[in-house]
Amino acid sequence: MTTLNSKLMDLEELTLNAKQIQDDMLEEILRVNANTEYLRRFLHGSSDKKLFQKNVPLVSYEDVKPYIERVANGEPSHVISGEPITYFSLSSGTSGGKLKFFPTNNKYFENLAFIQALCSAIISKYIDGIKEGKVIKFMNTRPLSTTPSGLHAAPAFTGFLRSDCFKNRPSKCYTSPDEVILCFEDKQSMFCHLLCGLVQRATVVSMSAIFAFTLVQAIRFLETHWKELCANIRSGHVSDWITDLSCRESVSAILGGTNLELADVIEKECIHKSWEGIITRLWPNIKFIESISTGQMSQYVPILEFYSNKLPLISPLYGASEALFGVNVDPLCNPQDVSYTFIPTMSYFEFVPVDEGNNDEIVDLVDVKRGCSYEILVTNRFGLYRYRMGDILEVTGFYNSAPKFRFVRRKNVVLSVHVEATTEEDLVKALSRASHVIESSGLMLMGFTCYSDVSTVPGHYVIYWELKSRKTNGIVQLDNKVMVECCCVVEESFDIIYRRLRNRYDSIGALEIRVVDQGTFDSLMEYFISKGASSSQYKTPLCVNSPEVLSILEEKVVARFFSDKPPPLGYKHGNIGITMMHKNN
Ligand code: AMP
Repeated sequence: MTTLNSKLMDLEELTLNAKQIQDDMLEEILRVNANTEYLRRFLHGSSDKKLFQKNVPLVSYEDVKPYIERVANGEPSHVISGEPITYFSLSSGTSGGKLKFFPTNNKYFENLAFIQALCSAIISKYIDGIKEGKVIKFMNTRPLSTTPSGLHAAPAFTGFLRSDCFKNRPSKCYTSPDEVILCFEDKQSMFCHLLCGLVQRATVVSMSAIFAFTLVQAIRFLETHWKELCANIRSGHVSDWITDLSCRESVSAILGGTNLELADVIEKECIHKSWEGIITRLWPNIKFIESISTGQMSQYVPILEFYSNKLPLISPLYGASEALFGVNVDPLCNPQDVSYTFIPTMSYFEFVPVDEGNNDEIVDLVDVKRGCSYEILVTNRFGLYRYRMGDILEVTGFYNSAPKFRFVRRKNVVLSVHVEATTEEDLVKALSRASHVIESSGLMLMGFTCYSDVSTVPGHYVIYWELKSRKTNGIVQLDNKVMVECCCVVEESFDIIYRRLRNRYDSIGALEIRVVDQGTFDSLMEYFISKGASSSQYKTPLCVNSPEVLSILEEKVVARFFSDKPPPLGYKHGNIGITMMHKNN
């Protein structure tokens, strides 16, 4: 049996037996961990499931932080975990750059390798010829820091890339050598990934990154560096500023000397005024793009579609530093229809209902109901017990007995200046409507973040926008009418409470869009990376409020626009075009 087939068989087996596997998993976790200092407080050494459900509290990061810090500071693992902790995953999650440490060990990396292999097998079922080609995958690592206990701490993906699971991977399908993947310096590694990918352009069958944001960043980097990349290919000499020696040597070997013809072909494509479809033009045999494009990453879908001529955009998996969750078993579905089937061997999962009026109790994985929304609780092997992930998911169906979930939003990401609460999902939807309006004036929305400004009376929402011309090096010309229309479209998309407060009671001021200079969101990312975030796992925070972050944004503001009328109250979400709805109201 081929590895692909055996992975697909695993998928069937795991999802058919989800209930039993989850029960066994909890039993095993409790058996191994019942005598940890943490669980003893609640279970007194018992590993009984009922007692676990009754006594172990639901916790957030701040509750478990003191325990995790004790292990990081040198106390034995069994404060929280029956198995040795060997690594701390640093996560910035989507919490606006606040770093969290999660205890883990090699099992997490094994799970990640398994999930990735499963995703490849599923994609291969739908797209032929993948195994014969190569993947240009933008990934890099962060330097490891060491905790006082001598354990390594870095983002989860860095840990994975440095682990034996990655080193001994069965297939070497990436265009970049390991030296580039392991390079710490973001700019050098991005340049080298692109150089290797361009040199091997004929063999590339897919382009990939963990999150869609990184792919957009890669294309923007290509826009500013293609001349230099072509010069490197032409001369066979890697630019002198690539000072990471192992990176340099391995890339020089791939470059393999001068290649005038290839440099000319690439230059001919890049010199075009429009970069629409640049990905398919530079990599003519590419079949799909793979990166997480749901949740807040959905804002990058239109940009990637533009650059790739609407190649299939596959959002393969759902995971976090705390635990891995599931895979997309229907990889060719539309980005907005993506659901993730949970894999029951990853952790023990429970679900807290979040729908209004749903007073059901916390339920097990196989007991969630289609159409209902839940927050996930994770109980893993490394010291998290009934940990609130803060991600809200909706059940869209089942694959065998394992549920499929649509990622809805982060729980705590809200804008609010009065009694309204505008969620991550509301924001992403509203901004996607406005980005259609902006597209009609030849611009693309490259990034956004929001802020509840309560320094004005009444308070109002501020949205920072970075825009870019659809033409390469085109100037961003802001049309006042279009920008004001965008402000109005965003407000119209918000819920009735927002619209009422804004409309009738004048309790919310006019929404403001502040356009920032190009490159602002890169500076923002650099700021978060300087604070320890990982570029591979980076997600621009949807809402910001720290004074440092706001000052980075404020320095780059080039124009401000306000909505010029309160949103209509009768607006309903529907499938009618935005402009039409706006005019009719
Ligand atoms: P981190 O631990 O820094 O990698 O961040 C994990 C968080 O990223 C999760 O808790 C989610 O909020 C988000 N995330 C991960 N995978 C997905 C996905 N497939 N769709 C939407 N959001 C995701």
